[in-house]
Amino acid sequence: MGKPTGFKEYPRKAVPYRDPMGRLADYGEIFTQPPEDHLKTQGARCMDCGVPFCQSDNGCPIDNLIPEWNDLVYRGRWREALDRLHKTNNFPEFTGRACPAPCEGACVLGITDPAVTIKNIENAIIDRGFAEGWVKPEPPPSRTGKKVAVIGSGPAGLAAAAQLNKAGHLVTVYERADRIGGLLMYGIPNMKLDKGVVERRVQLLRDEGITFLTNQDVGNKDSENFVDPKQLVADFDAVCLATGATKPNDLPINGRGLDGIYFAMEFLKANTKSLLDSKLEDGQYISAKGKRVIVIGGGDTGTDCIGTSMRHGCASLVNFELLPQPPQERAADNPWPQWPRIYRTDYGHQEVAAKFGADPRTYCVMSKEFVGDENGRVAGIRTVQVEWNKIDGQWKLKELVGTDKFWEADLVLLAMGFKGPEQYATEMLGLEYDPRSNYKAAHGRFTTSVPKVFAAGDCRRGQSLVVWAINEGRGAARAIDEFLMGNSSLPAPGLSLGLAK
Ligand code: FAD
Repeated sequence: MGKPTGFKEYPRKAVPYRDPMGRLADYGEIFTQPPEDHLKTQGARCMDCGVPFCQSDNGCPIDNLIPEWNDLVYRGRWREALDRLHKTNNFPEFTGRACPAPCEGACVLGITDPAVTIKNIENAIIDRGFAEGWVKPEPPPSRTGKKVAVIGSGPAGLAAAAQLNKAGHLVTVYERADRIGGLLMYGIPNMKLDKGVVERRVQLLRDEGITFLTNQDVGNKDSENFVDPKQLVADFDAVCLATGATKPNDLPINGRGLDGIYFAMEFLKANTKSLLDSKLEDGQYISAKGKRVIVIGGGDTGTDCIGTSMRHGCASLVNFELLPQPPQERAADNPWPQWPRIYRTDYGHQEVAAKFGADPRTYCVMSKEFVGDENGRVAGIRTVQVEWNKIDGQWKLKELVGTDKFWEADLVLLAMGFKGPEQYATEMLGLEYDPRSNYKAAHGRFTTSVPKVFAAGDCRRGQSLVVWAINEGRGAARAIDEFLMGNSSLPAPGLSLGLAK
């Protein structure tokens, strides 16, 4: 432990984001680079608890060795900190930027004081690793001769591929999109995760011997890029499905067919693709410029729609939330070390407040009808206020009479979560689904109902987090390695701690 009294001496100081008005002028990352002293002081706040909840239980799903690298950063031993970090996390540069940090919610210091800035420290370690040239391709010393196909190149597919390759298997990743990375590439926008950062890691994996194939639409008979999943099962010793949970929830109310209403991912994907292909000069994206934008739904997806619309130069922005505003502090039924369900202001909210003077979120709003103009374009939304009451232990929604309201809009973005995986990739295999329409496979085993076929990430657990996708990819790699070789020395994240979910 670096400084036994550090947590008493130093207050928490998170690394600030760039100034909201300044960052709205570009798609560069929102983060700033902290000075080394800042990180050292923040690392000194770690208490090296007897039971580090941050790295287990409700904390980090991949068991990051957090107290160890906090201490190493405090002592200035960055290279060792990097090695400790890579032991449990294949992609700290993704989680260091995009993870909501359940570790900080479970930090023991958080019982009485603000938690250690674990995520900032993680990001600084990996960024320093790259800057110093310490992160290099590490191909396996020998090959087993076994071949594995991974379908989908999001964080689950990439983590599975990285671990299987480490174990000496020959891995080929099949991706339907034109770029590798899944939602790291075409979901999370550039300002939160620079696409050069994703491509840098993919290149390392390539240099380690993994084959990446893009424009490979597994199971989609209507596509010119069709790949037969049965052929993959026949040609490879094992197949890992990591196709994500990309089927969006819809809002089937009157007027849904009007022009100007889009799913969040249509908006976000087209923006990133156009940004990367042509710096948005090809016009192949849905522009929010000069428009009155309403984003329906919150979470990361809603925030990313807000941040992107703001960069386009929208005329106004409103964000509907069906649920009530969360409390400022943990509620009695949400104690430490659970993930704190509290009111947070994310980067997109900050930007709207900076430009338009108020937070864009409005709570307990239910959309009743989309209203169109004479040209069939959306002109606004009729809503009512709702109230939530707990009846017989269940939250029930009640519409409030006399609260009808009309909101003008030229662009509506639906960010209401995801139903589960699209099923065309697996129909030809006759794969079984669970009651939530995800691929049926138990966490820890990751085996599906089809022999030789495994499943990991959002396609198995439903839409989740990057860190959980890495957990699942690493876990599935271990299960596949065991299946191929009879045993495995790859780690099984979270399993020893009863995290199987
Ligand atoms: P995905 O990342 O969805 O990757 C699946 C891949 O499979 C895709 O590339 C897809 O094209 C490919 N695929 C699908 N079907 C086929 C097929 N038939 N053939 C070939 N390829 C196929 N989580 C966080 O922790 N922090 C965040 O800030 C955050 N922000 C988010 C923002 C948005 C807009 C969204 C939508 C999600 C966000 N998430 C965030 C959630 C996180 O991105 C996902 O939980 C994570 O990416 C899931 O990883 P995955 O590998 O399982 O699937």
